[in-house]
Amino acid sequence: MAPKSEPILIAGGGLGGLTTALALAQRGIASRVLEGAPEFGAIGYGIQFGPNVFHVLDRIGVTAAVMQQADCPPAVLMRDALTGDELVRIPTGASFRARFGHPYIVVHRIDLHNALLDACQRAPEIELVPDAMVAAFDERDHGIALSTTDGRSFAGSALIAADGIRSLARAKLVGDGDPRPIGYVAHRTIVPMSALKADVHRHEVVLWGGPGFHIVHYPLRHGTLFNIVAVFRTSTHGERGDVESYRAELQHTYRDAHPAMRELLALMDLGRRWQVGDRDPVRHWSRGRIVLLGDAAHPPLQSLAQGACMAIEDGLCLAELIHAAGGDFGGAFRRFEAARILRTSRLQLESRALWDFYHAEGIARDVRNATVAAWDEEHMYRCLAWLYDGFPTPAA
Ligand SMILES: Cc1cc2nc3c(=O)[nH]c(=O)nc-3n(C[C@H](O)[C@H](O)[C@H](O)COP(=O)(O)OP(=O)(O)OC[C@H]3O[C@@H](n4cnc5c(N)ncnc54)[C@H](O)[C@@H]3O)c2cc1C
Repeated sequence: MAPKSEPILIAGGGLGGLTTALALAQRGIASRVLEGAPEFGAIGYGIQFGPNVFHVLDRIGVTAAVMQQADCPPAVLMRDALTGDELVRIPTGASFRARFGHPYIVVHRIDLHNALLDACQRAPEIELVPDAMVAAFDERDHGIALSTTDGRSFAGSALIAADGIRSLARAKLVGDGDPRPIGYVAHRTIVPMSALKADVHRHEVVLWGGPGFHIVHYPLRHGTLFNIVAVFRTSTHGERGDVESYRAELQHTYRDAHPAMRELLALMDLGRRWQVGDRDPVRHWSRGRIVLLGDAAHPPLQSLAQGACMAIEDGLCLAELIHAAGGDFGGAFRRFEAARILRTSRLQLESRALWDFYHAEGIARDVRNATVAAWDEEHMYRCLAWLYDGFPTPAA
């Protein structure tokens, strides 16, 4: 049995886990964040943040630190990967800020992570434990008993599992197996802006949508770096290839792509490949004193670039509900599911629909291109309002 003073255990020190720890600390609630990796830190690529996430960053006091590192692109564009035609333009400058009250940003994940980590290290309520891979946990009468793969034991008043799409806790609570591979893989690269020769937009976020493939690119670190993500369908997604076989596969897959895209592909570091996996929305992701958060609960495909934003929104919402519940963790966690299910499920489902839209081929591509021709700024802002207007946290 854990005495009343035991902290809340958070499994996973990603963006969701750290945000939750900070939001709890703001309410004077202690937590212990157990991160499986040897160090707290993120994979070294870029990330996009919609304006909705600033409601949370403001509340946990990290907006200024994040904005110091961020770039504010003037627009988000979609281009046809075969012709190069601009299909959609979402201005993200002054009119966007006026409409949504906050900017659209791109930022290096490491910089973002460090902004959150610095804030966590300053908070006496937060204990950060690296190299602590959670192996097992159990709910006891008044708390949680947890052990790590190296045999350490931890006790806590509750467990928040922010351990990502392959969550150990999800296996126990939901039991829906591994994420379902959808037949697509991703490669990510960052190059110095000075190495970029291709005639592409350097300041905007650009998505080139093609039949079974896309590329996203945007600047980082005040325009000194350029982030490129190449995503495509492949029947060899499950196999581990070498760089040369990946290179040959890319050349074949993107053979009809616009020449500027092919120039970008030549810059790709093919040393690491991510398999794109999907999960269905589920109605419940808590049991007793255990709750899932972020990708562990509701991972979306990356089409709307909002998975991390949802994990961060979750963190504040959950912390506020825990604070309000005064020790009734089960009640707080059920209210958390009820508060978040429609928004996070909608994101998962719309991300799937958008995935097909990006990769349309044949007649579907013709229909897509004809349809978007009528979309203007006002239409785009209206479509995105449900997401970008943000989420009213329970205490707001
Ligand atoms: C190519 C790509 C591009 C993306 N772009 C964007 C974007 O632009 N904007 C956006 O908002 N989202 C984006 N996402 C989604 C985003 O990366 C995720 O939704 C987000 O990282 C989820 O955060 P999380 O904290 O829930 O999980 P994670 O970031 O996965 O963090 C989980 C943490 O838990 C740790 N862990 C795992 N298992 C254990 C264990 N057993 N014990 C202890 N620790 C454990 C891991 O080491 C990790 O640190 C993108 C995703 C991909 C794949």
